[in-house]
Amino acid sequence: MAADVAAASRGFRSVFSLLTPNESSFQTVDEVPKYVQQATPYFVGLMLLELLVGVLRTGGSVVTLSDGVTSISAGMISRLPLLLFRGCELTAYVYVWDHFHLMDLPWDSAWTWWITLLGVDLGYYWVHRCSHEVALLWAAHQVHHSSEYYNLTTALRQSVAQQFSSWIFYLPLALAVPPSVFAVHIQLNLLYQFWIHTELISDLGPLEWIFNTPKHHRVHHGRNIYCLDKNYGGILIIWDRLFGTFAPESDKVIYGLVFPIRTFETLHVQFHYYSHLWKRSRRYRNVSDKILTFINGPSWKPGKRRLGDYQDNPKVTLKEVPHNPSWSLLLHVYVAVHFLLVLRIYHGLFGNQMVLPQGTVVALTAHVLLTLTALGYVIDQRPWAPFLETIRCVVLMILLRLGHVTPVLPSLAAPTQAFVSLSLIYWILQGFSQRLRINNKSD
Ligand SMILES: [Zn+2]
Ligand SMILES: [Zn+2]
Repeated sequence: MAADVAAASRGFRSVFSLLTPNESSFQTVDEVPKYVQQATPYFVGLMLLELLVGVLRTGGSVVTLSDGVTSISAGMISRLPLLLFRGCELTAYVYVWDHFHLMDLPWDSAWTWWITLLGVDLGYYWVHRCSHEVALLWAAHQVHHSSEYYNLTTALRQSVAQQFSSWIFYLPLALAVPPSVFAVHIQLNLLYQFWIHTELISDLGPLEWIFNTPKHHRVHHGRNIYCLDKNYGGILIIWDRLFGTFAPESDKVIYGLVFPIRTFETLHVQFHYYSHLWKRSRRYRNVSDKILTFINGPSWKPGKRRLGDYQDNPKVTLKEVPHNPSWSLLLHVYVAVHFLLVLRIYHGLFGNQMVLPQGTVVALTAHVLLTLTALGYVIDQRPWAPFLETIRCVVLMILLRLGHVTPVLPSLAAPTQAFVSLSLIYWILQGFSQRLRINNKSD
């Protein structure tokens, strides 16, 4: 019992990076807990708390189902590659440590722990800064900025592609810091950034001088001119103060991309900017301009400074309203239930990846991707939604029959089967009525 309480306390404190060197130093990488995975219940608890406090304080919800589902979907997709291989950051790090390390800092020293905290946070500052200042890297990172809301679900809106470039920035640490210490801090650094995504904490007094806080990070998510390319810090804000990228919160912050994407389709959110960049580069005749499109800032145009001229961007009027198309209450319930079901599948996948056959892991991963894509189509009310949903519901019925998907309680098995069957019938009928409407229009 006491051990359970201690584990729960460690799990909760890990979300705020409040672990001591003593309880989070390990000799080998394999001993390092999966802090991010273990934090899931605390994420859910804190998101529900934010929702409740938001309702009590403002009388309205701080999160919409469409935006929240899109953000959590992005977070889920970003971690899917971990089912098949160890993260790029750790893999590259271990390789450099094994072949090139110059010093061997002791893994069980508090000094090593603190130096690594600072080193990882400095590495993160540069990962993050380059992800904003190099358009090709921004193509991945823009996912995190694509919400026009700012709440705890926004923290989970992560890019699947970003890890394929971020690993480079941490390699200098591998010359001296053992991988097990790095493996702890790369997770704690990410976890810390969860709680700062909220509008409900206004000011934290003297802590604002040293730490990255909700107030500083709100500025980072703004599309007002004063917010652009500012406040890159992870845990500490001192790096921004040192390197001249700090901006205090002043005008009301309007969140999201300079050119909002106005969609909840999850693969579009992840990958749309790559094709945008490609099309932009093709517009230029000059080869150097074509190349600079990818390596200069996303606002850059030929003849302008490296980061472009912010004045060329659309002006913020402070009257912007986030994209929130109306859709029926029935579809809200539908999306919420199916999203809970896919969360259950996702959770089972990560919990049982070691014991499941590789083929089953791949099939369930594909189903998770199909579900997140199809639900985005439903929210966006796209013409392809009935088709995708019909296929998805058939696959889900098969998975339920084969026992690859099990409800939280055994007693929910029959209602779940019935719900999925009803869903299938609904989308078949929707598909037919859509076809009829198209035929009537063309007549
Ligand atoms: Zn950013
Ligand atoms: Zn953020």
